[in-house]
Amino acid sequence: MSLKPLMFMGQIQAFEREGAQYIVDRLWAGGIRRLVLGDLILSEGELRGPAFAPDLGFYDGVARKPAPLPAPLEKPARIFADAVQRAADKGYEIFFHDWGSYPAGCLNDPAQLAFGLARTRETFAHFPQTHGFVLDGPEWGYEIAPGHGSDLFRCFCEHCQAKARELGFDLPAIEAAAKTLKARLGQLTPELMRGFMATQTGPFDALDLLLQEPALFDWIRFKTASIQHYVGAHYACVKEMGSHLQLACGPRLAAFAPLTGYNLRRLSEVTDFICPKLYFWQHGIDGLKGTVYRYAKTLMDLNEGVDERLALEFTFKLFGFTMPGVTSLETLSQPLNRAFFEETVPGEIAKMIYRTGDVGRLRPWVGLHHGGVRISSDELELLLQAISGSGLQSLIYWHYSDMTEAEWQILQRFID
Ligand SMILES: [Zn+2]
Repeated sequence: MSLKPLMFMGQIQAFEREGAQYIVDRLWAGGIRRLVLGDLILSEGELRGPAFAPDLGFYDGVARKPAPLPAPLEKPARIFADAVQRAADKGYEIFFHDWGSYPAGCLNDPAQLAFGLARTRETFAHFPQTHGFVLDGPEWGYEIAPGHGSDLFRCFCEHCQAKARELGFDLPAIEAAAKTLKARLGQLTPELMRGFMATQTGPFDALDLLLQEPALFDWIRFKTASIQHYVGAHYACVKEMGSHLQLACGPRLAAFAPLTGYNLRRLSEVTDFICPKLYFWQHGIDGLKGTVYRYAKTLMDLNEGVDERLALEFTFKLFGFTMPGVTSLETLSQPLNRAFFEETVPGEIAKMIYRTGDVGRLRPWVGLHHGGVRISSDELELLLQAISGSGLQSLIYWHYSDMTEAEWQILQRFID
């Protein structure tokens, strides 16, 4: 099946460097009809600032205020505004991503949410050509490696305490259960792990685990309720601004999404479309191979006698996928093989379609790296084949300024 991709302009000053009309015409000629613009940050040397001068009238009663537009960035800001207009005139659907609205702290902080909603209203007032907004999370952590930025064992801050009381959750009990779980990660033995590996497991086995420790289920429920509240508030805000406006949200790959607090069926209730991340690279930020590496390595570091193969197989069992040919940490640094794209990727896509219940609502992010080991053009081609053969109709390509000519040629072959 052919695809209708959205192109993410991850560096909006590309319009300044290459010429707005050139980019608008180039992408249109290649079959792109929707653009995702963001983050809305401009820079000039060391200087950084927002893509438009803030109107503080949108922030009455909001403690956090947006940064001013420095004078040297006024010209780039005009060029960007002109590019948005040119794209709208051409006929593109325009979405914003990372428009400066994200919480500078916990997503349960009501002051951060108030700022995010004000920023969304202000952005639409500046760019009434827009068709919608694509939230990048926010999400809870899902990594077990000590000190990792996406720490599974957060957050229990004062705002989370208040939100938990409001929703009827016992956060101190949840925190105690989370600490017990964290300690258990260092009390595994090869025998215990092999015992788990020998089981044939399904959804009811997860129930068995949660019945043993109900506070862990409350923990995930609390995370999900927090996200529903945050995204739901943005959804209501966007629909109030205009019924034609759409709100999207980008959770992790289906295998990781529940740990981050995302339930795709419930997320559908507060979004118009969903953009799970088909990110598979090694190292860097948020690629599947990097996460598998960190889980396996952490399990080995925490527990004596656990070898690479057992740690990897245990990790695969936890997340419900396999990686053909991956038998050691070293093999994670090799290119992904054809079997991965014919088995693992379709399995994860099927999971996101099943969990969403409507393939038309899915427009996954497709990227080649965020730092880490870049996925090659050959792997991109295999990935796009897997996507086009999966029933998916669209994707968001991450991102224009990172894309080589060869990658653009490959992408165009899959465009309707
Ligand atoms: Zn918190």
